[in-house]
Amino acid sequence: MSFQPAEWRRHFPLLANHPELHYLDNAATGQLCEKAFDAVTLHELTQRANVLRGTYRLAELADAAYENARRQAATYLNAASPDEVVFVSGTTAAINLVAHAFGEGLKTGDEVVLSLAEHHSNLVPWQMLRERRGVALRFLPLAPDGRLDLSRLDAPISPRCKLVAVTHASNVTGAVTDLAPIVAAARAVGARVLVDGAQAVQHGPVDVQALDVDFYAFSGHKAFGPTGVGVLWGRSEALQALPPFLGGGGMIGRVTPEGSSWAMPPRRFEAGTPPIAQAIGLGAALDWLRAQPWPAMQAHTAGLAQRLIAELAVLAGPTFIGPRDLKQRLPIVAFNLADIHPHDVCQVLDAHHVAVRGGHHCAQPLMDRFGVAGAVRASFAPYNSEADVDALLEGLKDALRKLT
Ligand code: PLP
Repeated sequence: MSFQPAEWRRHFPLLANHPELHYLDNAATGQLCEKAFDAVTLHELTQRANVLRGTYRLAELADAAYENARRQAATYLNAASPDEVVFVSGTTAAINLVAHAFGEGLKTGDEVVLSLAEHHSNLVPWQMLRERRGVALRFLPLAPDGRLDLSRLDAPISPRCKLVAVTHASNVTGAVTDLAPIVAAARAVGARVLVDGAQAVQHGPVDVQALDVDFYAFSGHKAFGPTGVGVLWGRSEALQALPPFLGGGGMIGRVTPEGSSWAMPPRRFEAGTPPIAQAIGLGAALDWLRAQPWPAMQAHTAGLAQRLIAELAVLAGPTFIGPRDLKQRLPIVAFNLADIHPHDVCQVLDAHHVAVRGGHHCAQPLMDRFGVAGAVRASFAPYNSEADVDALLEGLKDALRKLT
């Protein structure tokens, strides 16, 4: 199937409303695709009712749409069953769920292994668990180019390790984690593996069975779906082994004044009214994304990132963070321009209608490792084009003229 970025762009209503905009902050939030927008609108106009409670026809329509979204998410992830898909509010909520539910079973002396490339969402919940349960945190180090250094996995992943929680791809360097050796090392000591997929899912369908991990978390808003919804996928057996995190309606088997029993997953982890419309929108987005020509789209975004990296090398002063080999990275490009503060660069770029992010990107340990307080980050989606790179480079030249 051939791929035309301009055609793809038409599926994103916001971009049509802002023809002047060069939106390059896709690692923070992708734009909402019209399929998601249409599904949410249809739901709100024709199916809106609470789910899993009502016996009237409208409620049954809502139930069917919500469970269909679960199937669509399961298909995108190649999950063994829709029951492995828990709708949560996003990646952060998914990781906190595991940190509480899985963390509940840990004790002093147990270890959780992370990496120095983690977004704070996959670090702070584990630090909070350390406070609650006395577990120790160990960190996979970084290679000079920002990829995880996997050369000595048996040191951090020891028999005391109960869980390895790592990112599928860095939101700063774009480096893709080679999960196979990590999974093998974790399995060798009987540890579970959680993958933060927040940056990976919007670059093509994921196969959780092939990855052979236990938990996979992602956010809808980064995958061209609505905000306020995300997925915790868990292998059936891994989810069934967990106690609930939040208590409330919908997650119980039977409640008496003395105590409660729990529903089976995924309901056990969906206390209260879930983000119904958002989940339906996300399901529609994933269903549409699944059928897209990914190899061509990946080649397109990699080409844009490659050109930007090459042109950055020509501009005076930029320091580029991350692996140069595009095969090992997603189209996320972080850099500093001379000694100009990233926020100042972003402001000049905004005057050129270029939207990029500047700052520590919620990855301060990674920034510390590179000896910088922050960076400018341009992140590409398939609707981006050469014109977006042109505008970004023009803006950077302007920033150099004005601020150095
Ligand atoms: N993990 C990574 C790698 C991210 O890039 C992000 C968001 O930028 C998150 C987790 C947190 O996602 P959310 O804020 O949607 O929960």
